Amino acid sequence: MIIGVPKEIKNNENRVGVTPAGVTELVRNGHTVYVQATAGEGSGFVDAEYEAAGATILPSIEEVYGIADMIVKVKEPIESEYNLVKDNQLLFTYFHFASHEPLTTAMIERNAVCLAYETVERADRSLPLLVPMSEVAGRMAVQQGAKYLEKPLKGRGILLGGVPGVRPAKVLILGGGVVGTNAAKIAAGMGADVTIMDTNLARLRYLDDIMPANVNTLMSNEYNVRQLLPTHDLIIGAVLIPGAKAPRLITRDMLKDMRPGTVLVDVAVDQGGCIETCKPTTHENPTFIIDDVVHYCVANMPGAVPYTSTQALTNATMPYVLMVANKGWKQACADNAELKKGLNVVNGKVVYAGVAEAFNLPY
Ligand code: NAD
Repeated sequence: MIIGVPKEIKNNENRVGVTPAGVTELVRNGHTVYVQATAGEGSGFVDAEYEAAGATILPSIEEVYGIADMIVKVKEPIESEYNLVKDNQLLFTYFHFASHEPLTTAMIERNAVCLAYETVERADRSLPLLVPMSEVAGRMAVQQGAKYLEKPLKGRGILLGGVPGVRPAKVLILGGGVVGTNAAKIAAGMGADVTIMDTNLARLRYLDDIMPANVNTLMSNEYNVRQLLPTHDLIIGAVLIPGAKAPRLITRDMLKDMRPGTVLVDVAVDQGGCIETCKPTTHENPTFIIDDVVHYCVANMPGAVPYTSTQALTNATMPYVLMVANKGWKQACADNAELKKGLNVVNGKVVYAGVAEAFNLPY
């Protein structure tokens, strides 16, 4: 198969769909890979590395779309890319169709085959191509939180791990899923006093088993949240109710219970946020302050660490990319139920229920 890897052109997107390691695997399996010039630069991979791995570098995005049977990228095509998509071309990337009608219409009109990373789903309902980004965001939430706790950045001026003779900071993590577990691991490693809250008792039991001694678990309910707010320095929002807006666990009136310089990192901001006062921010301007409480609400946290994020993402996507390249999408989806769930648009029709329902389209 001929595989094309365009350079991402969405604002501030520095990740790339295939690394030189991925090219090596594809070429070893008999495929041809075309990579747009400088596509990997933002993630630390120069063109020469792709060439050494067996790819051919093409100077323009038009040439990449023009030659490829399958396009592998990271973000959904933006408007200027719509007309580059060829009849029957396969695109494997994040699409998030349900929140983007013009994109859905464009892919239908271009007669594309769209495999969406975010809907590839295992039998246990986990989403293997979203997990790596939650891992990155969870770990980064603590790194950012520790930074904004510093006095010059308007935080309380407390060191996360403390020092001998001085107590460490207290970190409260709302939601003990992928983001929450990764955040807890890093915060605990830095020596903080960590509490994870979740509504899922089985999950709390599991976390209690695997976490170090400086991590405690607590049932998530309004009473317990209110109890902990006055004593905690860093609060990380990491809840998810699949397919729904995030539940509001911290309301506006609760800010007055927190000490000045407390830091809130709402990772769930991409699902509406679990902290009422959070609104999406950017890496250029990540924080704002309400009632002396620092709010960090960047909606695409992994974008700040493309070197790590690209490798984390492609570690998870490459087995599926190879499957599709080796068998063609029809056979690969027939053989693999997880991958089949990724099909969103096929030859002019929406084939994913959630997307069809979002726009009242036939399904
Ligand atoms: P997950 O499904 O692995 O975990 C969510 C957890 O929240 C579950 O354990 C669930 O039981 C728990 N939960 C649900 N309701 C709760 C409540 N009322 N109180 C406490 N816990 C509750 O999800 P995840 O992968 O950890 O993702 C968490 C959020 O982070 C999602 O909204 C996701 O979209 C977001 N996210 C954001 C970024 C970013 O850059 N901002 C990056 C990755 C993920």
